[in-house]
Amino acid sequence: KPRLYSGMQPSADSLQIGNYIGALMQWRGLQNTYDAFFSVVDLHALTQPNDPAELREKTRRTAAQYIAAGIEPSRSTLYVQSHVRAHAELAWILSTITGFGEAGRMTQFKDKSQRYGTDATNVGLFTYPVLMAADILLYQTDIVPVGDDQKQHVELTRTLAERFNSRYGETFRVPMPVIQQDTARIYDLQNPTSKMSKSAESDAGVLWLLDDPKVSAKKVMRAVTDSEGSVRYDRESKPGVSNLLVIYAALTGRQIPSIEDEYAGRGYGDFKKGLAEVVVAEFGPVRERALELLDDPAELDRVLAANAARADEVADRTLGDVYDKIGLLRRA
Ligand code: ATP
Ligand code: MG
Repeated sequence: KPRLYSGMQPSADSLQIGNYIGALMQWRGLQNTYDAFFSVVDLHALTQPNDPAELREKTRRTAAQYIAAGIEPSRSTLYVQSHVRAHAELAWILSTITGFGEAGRMTQFKDKSQRYGTDATNVGLFTYPVLMAADILLYQTDIVPVGDDQKQHVELTRTLAERFNSRYGETFRVPMPVIQQDTARIYDLQNPTSKMSKSAESDAGVLWLLDDPKVSAKKVMRAVTDSEGSVRYDRESKPGVSNLLVIYAALTGRQIPSIEDEYAGRGYGDFKKGLAEVVVAEFGPVRERALELLDDPAELDRVLAANAARADEVADRTLGDVYDKIGLLRRA
């Protein structure tokens, strides 16, 4: 089977629905046809300030949400990044073949460093894409399903793989990003021109998977729209309504025009009420399952440990090959 790699940062107590629609829904469908590796990328999360106890908790919670959303740890390899040491080791090697300017062109770094300011921006945020390249390349990955915000990072991963292969001989498989175009980007409900994110400054426009259903419904009802009053997809002049339509369509599997027809001549209130119901129906069960799993952290930790052992095997093989190729002396 071809390989698949993807991951999410445990950067909040809950995932947000952009993560669900842009990534988890695809992962769930692809895990049957691919030998899939799904990681909770806790090393990446260290690029933001963290309370140690909270980080541990967020890591478990993220893993539980993967499983609750339908990732099967008996079929796919679902593990915690820091459990597999090869990630950090390969990242170091790859950083030595990455250009400073090349890394500086990454828009996620530019966005986040601008938001935090120079003093609060750490070097880890700058080398984030190099660690991500290591994540992907360790598993000889064929495809990387991500939201379109990560496309540039996967492109860099390809460049680094090709560069290494041409300097030292065939070592890495060159991965392809897979981006579901129509749901590639879910926007913040209060600020529908910026991406919904776990680490958004305000969570008023973020729909959390683990939110109480009542809270989610309320957030949908308060979503920013426009004064036109018609439920119509138009990204340019109606970003708020268009975003809600995309969410509605993604969660129901319906086409946008059919939803527009259903709500033709009705106000935004009706439309939002309909969407709130859809959101609650989809996430209610996911939330319950996740909370159930979190009731037994010891069992969850056992599952993660078994999966990390599986990941270790594949990752160590690649890392050993890299060390040999690049000229590190083997320990006798
Ligand atoms: P952070 O703010 O901490 O970066 P995030 O919400 O951007 O959190 P990530 O852990 O960076 O989440 O990304 C996890 C996955 O979710 C990636 O595949 C990413 O492309 C996807 N993703 C994140 N936000 C969205 C979004 N708004 N729409 C669609 N996909 C998204
Ligand atoms: Mg992100």
